[in-house]
Amino acid sequence: MTTATNQPPPLVDYNLFAADLPLREALEREGGSWAQDMVSELGRLAGTEEAIAWGFQANSNPPQLHTHDRFGNRIDEVEFHPAWHRLMEVAISHGLHALPWRETRPGAHAARAAAFYVWSQVEGGHGCPVSMTYAALPALRNQPELAARWEPLMTSIDYDPGLRPPATKRGALFGMAMTEKQGGSDVRANTTRATPVGAGGPGGEHLLTGHKWFCSAPMCDAFLVLAQAPGGLSCFLLPRVLDDGTRNQFHIQRLKDKLGNRSNASSEIELDGAWAVMIGEEGRGVRTIIEMVNHTRLDCVIGSASLMRQAVAQATHHTAHRSAFGRLLSEQPLMVNVLADIAVNTGRASVPSPWSPRLSNATAATAMSKSRSCRASIARRRSTPSGKALAT
Ligand SMILES: Cc1cc2nc3c(=O)[nH]c(=O)nc-3n(C[C@H](O)[C@H](O)[C@H](O)COP(=O)(O)OP(=O)(O)OC[C@H]3O[C@@H](n4cnc5c(N)ncnc54)[C@H](O)[C@@H]3O)c2cc1C
Repeated sequence: MTTATNQPPPLVDYNLFAADLPLREALEREGGSWAQDMVSELGRLAGTEEAIAWGFQANSNPPQLHTHDRFGNRIDEVEFHPAWHRLMEVAISHGLHALPWRETRPGAHAARAAAFYVWSQVEGGHGCPVSMTYAALPALRNQPELAARWEPLMTSIDYDPGLRPPATKRGALFGMAMTEKQGGSDVRANTTRATPVGAGGPGGEHLLTGHKWFCSAPMCDAFLVLAQAPGGLSCFLLPRVLDDGTRNQFHIQRLKDKLGNRSNASSEIELDGAWAVMIGEEGRGVRTIIEMVNHTRLDCVIGSASLMRQAVAQATHHTAHRSAFGRLLSEQPLMVNVLADIAVNTGRASVPSPWSPRLSNATAATAMSKSRSCRASIARRRSTPSGKALAT
């Protein structure tokens, strides 16, 4: 048996929050110091061997689609590895999907951003449904009676997976379905039709028929969906299970084979007269759903910055324990340059994270910030000596 030498010990048993001075300072500066204990607890958990293993397991055991049960009935369910559920439990129980909607103290968005930044370093894929649930509520509030019904479930810190009627659930997760084959950025090209049942209009029932080319986290309890109503492209709330317990006509065709984000399921779906309720003004669907999109874009910034931060942690740890040519790598002048470069660039990308919630009304600034940190994140993955294959 060979014993490996000159290899670093695993980077475990450290507190990701305590080790991150700029983050601690930013949280305090942005008024979120009341959340320090919660973020620190997440930081401790994120550094444990157990949580790090969940990240690896969730990515090496991707979700499985089951379109039918063994008797031939359609079920349209996706099965996740238990590690995914552990990750989700931690995220939901710490309010990463809802903290600013549960908490009236100032700085709640900053507190959530810091928590999301720390916990995403363990695994990035499960941040998708967490982020979409956080993001859906501002859009849903355009239809107050729907918000009143769903808000208690969306802000609950009980993770309660499984397709059941909303009334029987302790918590609910939300996704979004906008993108179609012929239109991604340009959702005005959407062809999914919404036929009114009765009078239609805002708050009115509709049946949706068409497809969506990209619908992530399809085991969410409900989705905000764009479809063409008689008065133009509109936003709808579409539950997976109806109040009477029957499944909505939401059929998962297949799961995407993606480059990253592998722990998370992204699906192609068909809607075959699926029951949905209109949110907000008819014909103003983009205006309505953009509030959700914008909040998820904030999390794209935070998630990318978090990935970069973890890459720096891995790189500095690795080079502090690995020798080459008679010295630790971290003492070799050219390596010092590389480490300093990635640390400075990562710091620049991370700076927006705690204050990015302030940008939530500034779509252009958010998009620019997202573009900058996503590009930098990809560049870092190419250039870091030891990119951890956890976050996606
Ligand atoms: C991991 C993942 C998960 C996703 N999950 C969901 C989901 O849950 N729900 C959902 O609805 N969608 C989802 N999407 C789809 C995503 O929203 C679309 O990919 C996105 O809107 C872009 O659309 P597209 O891929 O069709 O690209 P296109 O719209 O075809 O764009 C192609 C390229 O052209 C650029 N471009 C577009 N318009 C312009 C312009 N006017 N000027 C200059 N450049 C332009 C784009 O930036 C892009 O680089 C997901 C995508 C990914 C990768």
